[in-house]
Amino acid sequence: MNPVLVVHGGAGPVSEDVKERLRQGIVRAATVGYCILREGGSAVDAVEGAVVTLEDNPEFNAGKCAFRLMSAIQHIEEEKSRAEKKESKDSGGKGGTFNSVLGSKLHCWLWASFSFSACRFFLFIFSRNLETVGAVALDCKGNVAYATSTGGLVNKMVGRVGDSPCVGSGGYADNDIGAISTTGHGESILKVNLARLTLYHMEQGKTVEEAADLSLGYMKSRVKGLGGLILVSKTGDWVAKWTTTSMPWAATKDGKVHFGIDPGETTIKDLA
Ligand code: ASP
Repeated sequence: MNPVLVVHGGAGPVSEDVKERLRQGIVRAATVGYCILREGGSAVDAVEGAVVTLEDNPEFNAGKCAFRLMSAIQHIEEEKSRAEKKESKDSGGKGGTFNSVLGSKLHCWLWASFSFSACRFFLFIFSRNLETVGAVALDCKGNVAYATSTGGLVNKMVGRVGDSPCVGSGGYADNDIGAISTTGHGESILKVNLARLTLYHMEQGKTVEEAADLSLGYMKSRVKGLGGLILVSKTGDWVAKWTTTSMPWAATKDGKVHFGIDPGETTIKDLA
């Protein structure tokens, strides 16, 4: 089985001045995950490697860089799911290793230093609109996996739990179908179970492109929600789709990396 790895850096508007840095960051994360697969690593290890690379990149808000979102500091959400034996593991609300430690320290500091309103104003001015990162992978043994990590929405209410840590909404993986990671307006994604809905369409015989269009189109028409997703099938077909203005993404397969941010933009390069 030829391994495949796809990553996204969150659905939403992207300003021109950061685009090149986002492209470099997303390609780097895809390359890290793909190298793990090429060396025989599991899909779970590959999506974790790719997502940690994005979390560590200050251009993306998820993970360590979620300090731009005050409420997200309390609820750095990360989840991984593996399709082997159709089991899933979820660490929603707890966050990952270093990131959760940093998050709680920053949280105390922030509360001691700023008033609630001043902090919200500061975050509103300086935060970006891309809050989530994700990865999906198919490994050499035919196992699929996904990981989704988020800083939540800008200025979200304290205590809000979005779609990202919820299996079926923020992502899903099943060796009999494929793996998906989603991003966008969490309340809408939750209402339509965007991840599972997309895989359902694939179960019904739709291609990855058709399944992505159907489920994103349904979310837009039924609950007026915008978002994006990356998807890999059990046979290695992949797609990156969104209904927001932009979504940084990269896909690696057969020694090549495909990447883009805006609709219609796709660059293809050989991987070293
Ligand atoms: N889905 C995330 C949330 O609503 C945000 C995002 O994907 O950008 O928390």
